[in-house]
Amino acid sequence: MSKGKTVKGTAIKQIEMRRCVACRQVRHKSELLRVVRKNGEFSLDETGKAEGRGAYVCRSPECVAIVCKRRNFDKIFKAKLPDEIYDIIKEKIHM
Ligand SMILES: [Zn+2]
Repeated sequence: MSKGKTVKGTAIKQIEMRRCVACRQVRHKSELLRVVRKNGEFSLDETGKAEGRGAYVCRSPECVAIVCKRRNFDKIFKAKLPDEIYDIIKEKIHM
């Protein structure tokens, strides 16, 4: 695993910004939970650095409720995510 180069200046802010799949707002990664798919397996990426395709949701009960109800991640990944992924997201923000 190689470490990425340090990006100086304002560029890093844009790199760190991601869009929530529920409210569509762009937020800093630290405010979001990341779900990642690698080799067809889904998981919650605690570090934000896991390899694979990722999608994000705000760490807020409102947005998590929306994604669990509408299953937004299923659409993003074009796949049926296991219920436990949605359960883990809820647990993460103590819902
Ligand atoms: Zn949101």
